[in-house]
Amino acid sequence: MERRTFLTMLAAGAAVAASGCAPAYSEVAAPVGVDPGGVAPPPPPLPEPPPPLLLPPPPSSARVPVPPGPISAIPGAGNNIALTVDDGASAEVIGAYVQFAKDTGARFTFFVTGVFDGWTTHSAELRPLVESGQIQLASHTWDHPDLTSLTSAGVAEQFARTKTFLSNTFGVDGTPYYRPPFGYRNAAVDAIAADHGYTVPTLWYGSLSDSGLITEEYLLECAHKYFNPQTIVIGHANHLPVTRVYGELVEIIRARNLSMVTLNDVFSLPEAH
Ligand SMILES: [Zn+2]
Repeated sequence: MERRTFLTMLAAGAAVAASGCAPAYSEVAAPVGVDPGGVAPPPPPLPEPPPPLLLPPPPSSARVPVPPGPISAIPGAGNNIALTVDDGASAEVIGAYVQFAKDTGARFTFFVTGVFDGWTTHSAELRPLVESGQIQLASHTWDHPDLTSLTSAGVAEQFARTKTFLSNTFGVDGTPYYRPPFGYRNAAVDAIAADHGYTVPTLWYGSLSDSGLITEEYLLECAHKYFNPQTIVIGHANHLPVTRVYGELVEIIRARNLSMVTLNDVFSLPEAH
């Protein structure tokens, strides 16, 4: 989608929200007496698009060492929020998130489930954002199983296959962060994940609850509840409602003076030996 189109849509959505059901555009009858054979007047100029909804850049404060064990928050004082986006069942939603990032400067960590085509569909647009660090990639397994129900070989395949996919498609392998589907993990799963370089199980403080289809209103209710400082929050690239409320999400983030961060923006890793 063109940037102008996207911003215009945001503005149109905001206008409708502000004024109830008023139409954003009304047909005007052609004036009487105009010679139909005459040269058509130039179209009126397009209204100026609203200014870009630029979010603040990530803080320049020092990163904190990633704590041992699973993480669900960002330690220490600050005003950061790590919005992490899981799955990718809808290529359209992945594309809309990419456009959202381009339009606003929003920073995300995508927990990629490798089996979904949308990651390949949008790889060309994603790559420069991944290379600049605005979008970080991490592993959410190959096809989203309950890892605790699989054999060791099955768990290993989930990590190996997604790692290969990420490396081949984006030039990064998503280590060291992995998110267990449904949050289901145990010591054996963590050990196999670590064998593949995924040493940080990444859980969450709150979720937009949109892994399945929910209403925009409920999604925003969750955002109001969970968009708090120093948290890791989950969204999902599965269903369209989130793509209709990006403007409102930006407003919550701005009103609370939060900085959107990737995990790499806020965590430092132990030196490799
Ligand atoms: Zn998931």
